[in-house]
Amino acid sequence: MATKALFAGSFDPITKGHIDLIERSALLFEDVTVLVSNNTEKTTLFTAEERKELAQQAVKDMSNVHVDILTDELVVEYAKRHQITAMVRGLRSMGDLDYEMVIAGVNHRQAPNVETVLLLADANYRYLSSTIVKEIASYHGDVSEMVDKDTAIALQKKYREK
Ligand code: ADP
Repeated sequence: MATKALFAGSFDPITKGHIDLIERSALLFEDVTVLVSNNTEKTTLFTAEERKELAQQAVKDMSNVHVDILTDELVVEYAKRHQITAMVRGLRSMGDLDYEMVIAGVNHRQAPNVETVLLLADANYRYLSSTIVKEIASYHGDVSEMVDKDTAIALQKKYREK
């Protein structure tokens, strides 16, 4: 039985869409790891450590959720090392589905015992992405409906420094 799950992503920064998915995963699985990826070629606004701290702050009231950083390793390897048997991903659109099916296929080849679990985005957050949040925050727009309080403050601070 899949008791331990993993939710991996860039979380640059964590949004209410991510948080909703984590809350729902925490009801389905005994233990959920939010894995902040530091592997990607993408340049990020926040450092991995900052992204981890913001995610930690956002999930602090969820007792079966913790946050870690992934470095120099494939997500499936991390999952295998920690006896995690489910990888949760979020689906906002058909575009997400196309992409997720490819990733799930690749991951399945690497780790046949790790199952990909796709959860549908909440209707309220279907159009929400970290990219949109950053775009709005960069023009000093209001992102309070999209991210939690600490993340909104961190965004303001980042774009003031820039
Ligand atoms: P990556 O860039 O590595 O895909 P993201 O942080 O953008 O990382 O996304 C991590 C996961 O969260 C993905 O599965 C993505 O589909 C999901 N996700 C992102 N935004 C939302 C949202 N608004 N609602 C539900 N799931 C989401």
